[in-house]
Amino acid sequence: MRRAIVLTALLATGALALRLAASQQQAGGRGQPAPMVVEVDKLKDNLYVLKGGGGNTAAFITASGVVVVDTKLPGWGQPLLEKIKTLTSKPVTTIINTHTHFDHVSGNVEFPATIEVIAHENTKTYMDQANPVYGLQTGPQANIFKENGGKGMPKRTFKEKMTLGRGAERIDLYYFGRAHTGGDAYVVFPALRVMHVGDTFPNKDLPIMDKNNGGSGVAYAATLAKAADLARVANVDTIINGHMPTTTTPADLRLYADFIGDFVRVVQDAKAVGGSVEDVVKGWKTPAKYAGYSMPQAARVRADAQVVWDEMK
Ligand SMILES: [Zn+2]
Repeated sequence: MRRAIVLTALLATGALALRLAASQQQAGGRGQPAPMVVEVDKLKDNLYVLKGGGGNTAAFITASGVVVVDTKLPGWGQPLLEKIKTLTSKPVTTIINTHTHFDHVSGNVEFPATIEVIAHENTKTYMDQANPVYGLQTGPQANIFKENGGKGMPKRTFKEKMTLGRGAERIDLYYFGRAHTGGDAYVVFPALRVMHVGDTFPNKDLPIMDKNNGGSGVAYAATLAKAADLARVANVDTIINGHMPTTTTPADLRLYADFIGDFVRVVQDAKAVGGSVEDVVKGWKTPAKYAGYSMPQAARVRADAQVVWDEMK
């Protein structure tokens, strides 16, 4: 919450302030700008996860250039580019954004304008609208793309599936319906058996169900089950998550879909017996079978329960 407030206060005051906010976030809000450190995990010879400064980035190095999945908070595009230069001499040719949120797309504007940016068609719309994230106290969102004359906006979009490249360098993008937002892309590297699922499975905790950007509580578990089905069909063995420091497995993804399904049923049951969202907030405990999951936070339980509640009208 404190991180969110720091960010809110500074969102209004432009790019420099945003850069500072991102640094402070990294420093844990102590007020001292921290160095913007991008940490690298090598998953495969040509696939890296770059951590820090918002959502997890993937960098896929092909013969013709680097494909980057997600570009972090404002101010983190340049540190990201510099880190990629230490991994390869090839230029970045393509950015794929998994969804619209500012901690996944803002670095786009710091990449050369010639780079192709790809996203789901709904995500392009949400990026253009810059709607606030539901349940996150960020206040009005600055439209970083408008501030940069449209730079960093997707030029190429897809609806259900898109394939880039071929052979060992193929990338498949999928959309399975509403979940975290209404434009969540699942990015599969078939030859490497790896899938980046963005914030549809951000960590082992209740996700944001961002109804301001097309997200859904009621649809979430079924959408994620389709992604888990794909993981099986595509022989994926490694999942890159939106915000976790280590990778997970398709079994973890399947369990996460179950977890959200269980939560949604609790909310639906509370409504069916004439209860309230606050009853859910008081009563929700993470079921014991979800080992290693976080303790529920009241604000997130409330926001998610409200989304499900409103969808049941
Ligand atoms: Zn997100």
